[in-house]
This record gives sequence, structure tokens and C-alpha cells, in this order.
Amino acid sequence: MDLRKLTFLKYLQIFKRQVYMDHNATTEVSNQVRKKINNTLKSSYGNPSSVYALARKSTEVIDKARKQVAKAINSDPQEIYFTSCATESNNSILKSVSKCFFPTKKKIISTPIEHSSVISTLDFLKTQGIKVEFCPVDHYGRILLKNLESLIDEETFLICCMAANNEIGTIQDIKKITDIAKKYGVLVMSDCVQAIGKIPIDVHDWGLDYASFSAHKLYGPKGCGVTFIKQGSQFVPFIHGGHQENGMRAGTESIHNIAGFGEACKDINKLLKYSGKIEHLKCELVERIKRIKPDCIINSADSGSLPNTISITFPNINNTGLLAMLDFHGIAVSSGSACSSTQDNPSHVLKAIGLTDQSARETIRFSLGHSNSINDIKYTVKIIKKFIENGTNGIDMITPSQLNETYLNDKQLYIVDVRPGIMRKAVKSLPNSHEVSFMSLEKYIHHFPKDKQILVVCQRGHLSFIAAYYLKSKGFSRVCSLNSGVCGWMRQRNDLYQRFGGQNINVLQPVGKIERN
Ligand code: PLP
Repeated sequence: MDLRKLTFLKYLQIFKRQVYMDHNATTEVSNQVRKKINNTLKSSYGNPSSVYALARKSTEVIDKARKQVAKAINSDPQEIYFTSCATESNNSILKSVSKCFFPTKKKIISTPIEHSSVISTLDFLKTQGIKVEFCPVDHYGRILLKNLESLIDEETFLICCMAANNEIGTIQDIKKITDIAKKYGVLVMSDCVQAIGKIPIDVHDWGLDYASFSAHKLYGPKGCGVTFIKQGSQFVPFIHGGHQENGMRAGTESIHNIAGFGEACKDINKLLKYSGKIEHLKCELVERIKRIKPDCIINSADSGSLPNTISITFPNINNTGLLAMLDFHGIAVSSGSACSSTQDNPSHVLKAIGLTDQSARETIRFSLGHSNSINDIKYTVKIIKKFIENGTNGIDMITPSQLNETYLNDKQLYIVDVRPGIMRKAVKSLPNSHEVSFMSLEKYIHHFPKDKQILVVCQRGHLSFIAAYYLKSKGFSRVCSLNSGVCGWMRQRNDLYQRFGGQNINVLQPVGKIERN
């Protein structure tokens, strides 16, 4: 196939094979759940707060789902409160329990590897007078129990520790944590979002007072979470309004999503059984990667980590290029948490387990799920191998620190900015850059000089790499991509960003003649 004859979209479509290995970010909705949601939307649209038969039907749907979720985590249905997502559940537990205890007691102990929905809420609570202390973790992210016990004092009212980590998969020994907490009369909450459906959960046996869950991590819908509150535990409503959820969480219920969450939990044992197969695939992936990159570092523990999750550091390989290459070939993986993927900072989880900034930027998380097969593993490893051997295949990667004043003013440099308008508003463009549309790149190509160096930039260095690849195939011999994108430049060369950002921008017009093939 002659790549030079292809339009940009066609070029992207050659690599149509899709491999999804980012199940910790979210999962696809299973057929069974989708059917349940559709049926609920069709037949149970009554507002459960109304009094007639149609409304009662909706109440029945919610009650059934409540029982299904309760069974999956071995709680009582009355201890289950539906929310809009686990972020809401984490916010509400932390803020509500703090309200119950403050100012008599002031301290929450947590871990440095919690999800951003916990870390950011704790940051907010600090501004309200709550004292937050983080218990150290070992190099696999396991909480150091001795340190935990020594941190507890008479001011402590809550320990907040996730059951399983989203980036490295570490499973915490929650039972041991609650045993320690109970000795001192301290309550325990656990973010169980990544644990449900992957490892067995028994909130009562674990001794938890509060826990959070999310439907979209176990093949359920997005927009539905659960707060578990042990019967009799203190809690003040976080969202005020109607009497829904027994007065604990106001707002008309998202009946179809709740039904979907229940349906996803119905087959929890099947999900758990399937974990063995997923773990086997994960081991295959690790073994094959070790063969092509013997110096790779595995950040997830062999035992005591989620069966589907593996975090791997590839020394001397910046993950931006590798992620872009994988994306280019239809493989979806990530460098860390989905919630922080638009930020440019190295992962706080990887830093907490001792990785340097550089190692964190050389790390990729693979999180497997039901859609994966051994062929996906082979294909992914093949692409990684190609990247290790050929690097960026003739595409130079420019680092933000290389983009100094001289470089930016070089008349031999032609900057192409492929970001959508909304991102250009958020972060100013490089000076002298030329704005084009990524999705119809071929319509702009006639503007680009063949005798200059083309620097393609985007927000974080992902799209620009793909676009640079395309330009190379179109005969542009000196193409480079800005690693970490405009965000990286803003961060690392803020002096230049402040002085020159957004200056002399050229908005290119698409050229009428479009190549057809
Ligand atoms: N906690 C953990 C560990 C997560 O991985 C996530 C989502 O990635 C959340 C909380 C937030 O869940 P939600 O998307 O339902 O707000």
C-alpha cells in the first residue's frame, strides 16, 4: 500500500485494530447490562417519589438493584446509598464524617497513593481545619502498618485507605487496618472502586464503616456510584433536597443506571472466576515484555495486586512517544490514572512508591479485562518491540527545554499546531505557529514548506506524534514532534511562555483540493 496516497483519516483507519487495555479507567458496558438499562429506560420511567403504580415500579427497580449491590459486597441493602459516581461517594464520606467529628477530633490518616477524588477532598478539608497525615507505603504501595498505628492519636477520627490501587494494582490488607483502627476507636473508610469485580469484597468481614464503589469499573454504566455506610455510623447528608435514598442523598434517582449497576453486580461470582484467565494474560504480557526489554521494572507486586493490573517502567523510553505509537496502532493503554491524564505532572502514586520523575515518565499501566485475548498481548508486544528497536521511526522528539528563544525564532522552523480550538483557549500557542485541524490534516499540507523543519505540536505530545508520522509519509523529510506538548513547554519554559505565548499566530485555511484515494 502506498501510504503517500492516503488522506489523513484513511491513514488512521489502516490501523483499525482495536485493543483496549485500560479497564481501570473504565470498562465497556456488558450486553446484559445494556439490555437492562434499555428496558428500564423504556418501562420504568416513573419518578420513584410519585405515588402511582408506574412510580412504584421504579422504586421496585431501585430496591432490586440495592439488594444486588449489597449481595456483591456482603452488606445489608439498607447500608447502600446510590450516588452519581464514586467521586461523589468519596467526597461525601470524607466531608460528612469530618463534619460529624470536627472540631472535637481533627485528624484523618490516609495514604499517599489514593485516587485524586480522595487526595483533592483531603486538600480541601485541610483548608477547613482538618489535619491530614499520610502513612508511608513500601515500594509496592503497601501501607506500613506499624507506621499507621504510631500515627493514630486522640485527635484521629478516620483512616482512609483504598482497597486496591488504580495505577499499580496494590491490594491493601483492609482487615488488618480496621483491626488496628478499632483498638483506638477510629473509623475506617475504603475506596473500593478498583476492587469490586476483581477480588472478593466483604465489607462486614473487613470491618469497614464506609466504602465507595463505581458501576463503570465492572462493566456497568458511567454516572452511578454507591456509598456504603455501616448501619449506625455517623453521616450527615451531603446533597440536600428531596427525601431520596432515605434522606441521605437528595436528587431524583438515575433509575436506569442504578438498574445497570445492580445487573453488573448480579454476576459478580462469574466476574471473579474470570479473573484467573485475565491474570494469566497479564503474566503472558509481562513475560513477553521482559523478553524484549530485559531492563524493564515491574512496579506491581507479584502477589497481593489486582489480577488485571500491571505497571511497567521502560528505562530510557519516554512514555509519551510509546503511548502515541500504541494509540496510533489502535492500542489503548495509559500512563496512569485517567483522572490526571490531562495534567502533565508525574504520577503521585509512582512517586510515592519511590520512582523518580523520570522513571514515572517512563511508565505505562496496562489494565486488562474481558475483551482481551492472547492475540492482543502478542500484537501489543510486537508494537512495543518495534518502538524499542526503531524508536520514533525518523520523527525527532523535541523536548520543551530545547524550545529556547533561538529555536523559536529560527526562520528554518515551521510550527504546526494541531490542537482543537478549546485547547488553544486553555493554553496559549507557541509563537509563530500555524493552526490547522488535526482531523483533516491533508487539506493543509499544501501550505507546509518541504525545505524547512516542521515542528508539530499539540496539547500533550500525543496527537502531534501521529500527525508527524503522517507528514513523514507524505514526503516531509524533517519532521519533529514536541514531547509533552504545549503544556510541557508552558510548565518547563514558563518564562518564554509568558513572554511569547500566543504571539503571531497564523490560522491556515484548508486548501480546496482534497486528495482522494
Ligand atoms: N477511586 C478510584 C480508585 C478510581 O480508580 C476512580 C476512577 O478512576 C474513582 C475513585 C472515581 O470513580 P468515578 O469515575 O465513579 O467518579
